[in-house]
Amino acid sequence: MKLSQSTASFYVPDRVQEPQDLARITHLGIGAHQDDLEFMAYHGILAGYDSTEKWFGGITCTNGSGSPREGKFVTYSDKEMQAIRRIEQNRAADIGQYAAMIQLDYPSEIVNDPHASGPVSDLVEILKASRPEIIYTHHPMDQDPAHLGVMSTVIRAIRQLSPSEQPQQLIGCETWRGLDWMLDHEKIIMHVGGNPELAEKLNGVYVSQISGGIRYDLATTGRRLANAAILGSSQEENGDQVCFGIDLMPLTKADAPSMTDYIFGFIKRFAVHTKTHLQHIKS
Ligand SMILES: [Zn+2]
Repeated sequence: MKLSQSTASFYVPDRVQEPQDLARITHLGIGAHQDDLEFMAYHGILAGYDSTEKWFGGITCTNGSGSPREGKFVTYSDKEMQAIRRIEQNRAADIGQYAAMIQLDYPSEIVNDPHASGPVSDLVEILKASRPEIIYTHHPMDQDPAHLGVMSTVIRAIRQLSPSEQPQQLIGCETWRGLDWMLDHEKIIMHVGGNPELAEKLNGVYVSQISGGIRYDLATTGRRLANAAILGSSQEENGDQVCFGIDLMPLTKADAPSMTDYIFGFIKRFAVHTKTHLQHIKS
């Protein structure tokens, strides 16, 4: 497999497979930055953890350039910070027992460029080699441009696959905006309360990102607990935590609606639902 960036890397935590042998991957997360996978694709990580039948694979598309540098990292150069972030991502792959961790090493501006061919062709190669059942990526209402760039790249790559090569599910996941507002029957509900110790370890790997004082690790767990509470899922009995997702598979089909029409359909149905409720309230 030939990827576009000569600095792209493959890492296989258990070293039992050749780095580019990706066939055992059943659940694949594709994120923009180092740390996105652990926050948004934890459902897939959990599925593969301590399993011999299911395996999680991770792809991080950007090189971490321009990352904030706070605390003990304030004197680090951009290059040194990129190296730290790459190490942190591979450490997460070790902890989560990933089948493989692939870092494509693109500058964000390439990932954000809808005309860039490198990221799409890289993903096509990887998807053909891995043939995952489920793919997790960012969702279309996220606020981060690199997240949207990656999501768009994933959709374009899947469109280039034959029907038999396509995944069964493509899930847009929460990172830089939640999906709790969506109508319950339109959400993909992912229960992730099974191994809180693992989540804590994975979320805590990214010391370089939480050293600035924003506790992404605690916020991620808080969001999962809040999502479960909104659903009325008991946290006392089973310690449930929930990630919400949106089905992006229709956008990969030959007769796909436009992204705008598809997403505005969810927003309009939410608006109608809200209006119906408010009409019963006297103001
Ligand atoms: Zn990110």
